Amino acid sequence: MNLKALRNCSYGLYVISSRKGDRFNGQIANTVVQATSDPPTISVILNKENLTHEFVTDSKAFSASILSQDTPLSFIGHFGFHSGRDTDKFKGIEHRPGETGLPIVLDHSLAYLEARVTTQLDVGTHTIFVGELVGAEILEEGEPMTYAYYHQVKRGTTPKTAPSYIEERKEAKSEMDKYECTVCGYLYDPKEGDPDGGIKAGTPFEDLPDDWVCPICGAGKDQFEKA
Ligand code: FE
Repeated sequence: MNLKALRNCSYGLYVISSRKGDRFNGQIANTVVQATSDPPTISVILNKENLTHEFVTDSKAFSASILSQDTPLSFIGHFGFHSGRDTDKFKGIEHRPGETGLPIVLDHSLAYLEARVTTQLDVGTHTIFVGELVGAEILEEGEPMTYAYYHQVKRGTTPKTAPSYIEERKEAKSEMDKYECTVCGYLYDPKEGDPDGGIKAGTPFEDLPDDWVCPICGAGKDQFEKA
């Protein structure tokens, strides 16, 4: 069985937000799918370990902000590689309240969907939440980010808690050494540089400024190891 076959499935990239009382949280997911059109329903699959899972279970509602293709890696890292148990992820993030009182992320979002959970299915490590739409709006015209674009063009990584996580063996062999972030798995490739962070292609890891940080999770240079 070749699990890489799964990589041929197509996905988008979303910020899933919810609330528990007056606390807000959000996370990145690639698993939003329209389920039915009449009534309009969508589903999302969340890891049981994630705080957002706890919040959706509690409030029975979630929103999905559909990210644009030019969303910076740091924004995806903010929601995807940090836990709301340690930080308030909504600090400094533009958002608006939805019909159910949860937050809807507006930054880098082309559109949003808000749903009230009608049914859920336990699938082991994850739960599939299905919800009827109670809100939906287009915010901006643009190309939505696909999961493939995030990996191939943005060179983003996947946390181990994502349903689509497949352990990757990084190939090496290049003139300049690649360095891997020990926190999130991001691979700094000198051939590519870090365009989001203003680092030109062809910059060796050693020449990165001391205050350069991982474009995904914000870890410092000292948390990188030669790949
Ligand atoms: Fe990182």
